[in-house]
Amino acid sequence: MYPNWLAQRVQMTPNRLALTFEGKSWTFKQLFDEVMNTAGTIKTAGIEQGARIAILAPSHPQLIITIHACWQLGCEVVLLNERLSDEELAYQIEDAQPTLVLVKENYQERIGMYKKITLEDLSEKNSSTIRIEEEWPLNRTMSIMYTSGTTGRPKGVRQTVLNHTTNATSSAFNMGIQTNDVWLCTMPIFHISGLSILIRSVLYGMEVNLYSKFDVVRVVDDLVNGNVTRMSVVSVMLERILRELEEREENVSSRLLTMLVGGGPVPSHYLERAIARGIPILQTYGMTETASQTATLAPEDAVRKLGSSGKPLYLSFIRIDHAKKPFEEGEICIRGGHVTPGYIGQYEQTPSQEKGWLYTGDIGYLDDEGYLFVVDRRSDLIISGGENIYPAEVENAILQHPMIREAGVCGVDDEQWGQVPIAFIVSDAEISLESLREFLQTKLAPYKMPRKLHHIKEMPRNASNKLLRRELREWVTSKSNE
Ligand code: ATP
Ligand code: MG
Repeated sequence: MYPNWLAQRVQMTPNRLALTFEGKSWTFKQLFDEVMNTAGTIKTAGIEQGARIAILAPSHPQLIITIHACWQLGCEVVLLNERLSDEELAYQIEDAQPTLVLVKENYQERIGMYKKITLEDLSEKNSSTIRIEEEWPLNRTMSIMYTSGTTGRPKGVRQTVLNHTTNATSSAFNMGIQTNDVWLCTMPIFHISGLSILIRSVLYGMEVNLYSKFDVVRVVDDLVNGNVTRMSVVSVMLERILRELEEREENVSSRLLTMLVGGGPVPSHYLERAIARGIPILQTYGMTETASQTATLAPEDAVRKLGSSGKPLYLSFIRIDHAKKPFEEGEICIRGGHVTPGYIGQYEQTPSQEKGWLYTGDIGYLDDEGYLFVVDRRSDLIISGGENIYPAEVENAILQHPMIREAGVCGVDDEQWGQVPIAFIVSDAEISLESLREFLQTKLAPYKMPRKLHHIKEMPRNASNKLLRRELREWVTSKSNE
């Protein structure tokens, strides 16, 4: 058993700040009181302990309070992504079969016929008394979160008390905790990068500075003049922060101790630009199935091991399948208390582990000092004339072109080579294949050079903003069949 996260925190530091949002703040005691009140209203609505409750709401203190309220009732929460299409949303609700959907009023039409209550109606209800559970079983499912659906259909992942607690603990062992820590949260809460910030807040006694959305001007103001000490970003956000800082010719405040960047490949020149602006950037590797980070670079290695995702965190183990020595590439496998016990719904029978190891579907290697380098997704690998080409490497090189804003690479069938890479770009100006190849000449081996170039207006991305290379492949296949 582990302690009830929030109840334990209130015992320890009731008057510390827990949350700030648009100028309003909550101490842990104030947060806890609101949480217990909301838990009482959910109980009045007829929800039993252990029920599965889906939530669809934007990033807002009300969402945080509702999630904690469900946990105080011993309920599992399914966190739904507001950016999903109606069809994708219906799939996840159908798959998760929640007892009830709690929904922000303006989203209620998106829920269709499923049993729902709006958060607004809930707040009108009388609050019943709740018995506080002092301890929680380690294997209790706290959250169910769908994977981003980058490689196929999103899978509903169980995240338990043990998974989240282990993850928050290992992260603290790597980065350290200070009593004045403030984590700037612009990541969506329905994604593990956001939810894990809320859990760290309660476990560490740390303030969260919550944004309803990513607003680069405010973020940079906070990073330069505010009291933020930690922040999590994905590479698209990092690039926007960098552009803003570069335009203003400013550096971030020395109070900022960590900026975690992960969720997908990070172009190496972004990391270099970040360091030039005084950002203590740490690359991290994680997934929904590992309740966030599994490897993160240590602060002292940030410059020396630029490009690496660091070493496995203290409580996690990483091995490269079939690799016999350093630098050999293979599938990244993960073990530890942070690894999910499994999926729900249509993937319930798909084991998440083999002999205790999670097979990630990602290719990577460990260097001679044990640092992890994530190469790319196994399913996107291009094999050309017997040589392996990873699209991420080619995209990374293309993105160094000053006129190119976004790049996507996939393989197409070729009679001579089996497969060859082709590129898609979003750019400020028309760029010819010849000039791109010339630009790439010193950066890529000849067999990795794109054979074709397509200009597009927008990269196909999912609701987590991840590039969907499978859609690029499908587009090419449908074109060639026309
Ligand atoms: P699905 O499993 O449905 O295809 P997904 O894997 O994109 O979607 P997430 O769990 O949100 O869903 O993302 C985890 C994946 O993100 C990892 O498996 C990896 O491919 C990628 N990723 C995360 N961090 C990094 C990183 N630092 N470098 C490269 N890739 C990363
Ligand atoms: Mg995945």
